[in-house]
Amino acid sequence: MFAKILRKEIPATVIFESEHVLAFEDIHPIKPVHVLVIPKGNYRSILDFSEKATDAEITGLIRALATIAKKMKIDKDGFSIMTNSGHDGGQTVPHLHFHLLGGEKVAWEQSLRN
Ligand code: 5GP
Repeated sequence: MFAKILRKEIPATVIFESEHVLAFEDIHPIKPVHVLVIPKGNYRSILDFSEKATDAEITGLIRALATIAKKMKIDKDGFSIMTNSGHDGGQTVPHLHFHLLGGEKVAWEQSLRN
């Protein structure tokens, strides 16, 4: 599904793009700011990414998270970054993604949808 967004086959509101990273608005936002940040490479989860991604991909993704927080103007008031992995983590899309949440106080356990 996110591969289709990467190939521009389905639309998304893109917030940020770089060589290794794409960030776009979540289709069902749970906070005023809810951006999904993904590596362009095909990694299923943080486990896969940490084992197989290049240093440039890892650095690019971490730097992008901070860049996007500033771009969305949530750096001063604060924000939460979450990635879900596997069944118990509640991951529903099998392409690594980080939820960047802000714009109001985030009670992260209550942010998870059932
Ligand atoms: P997960 O539950 O895997 O951590 O998060 C998946 C997220 O992807 C959900 O917050 C869901 O709303 C979002 N999502 C699923 N399909 C699409 C889509 O086609 N476009 C966008 N922009 N977000 C999607």
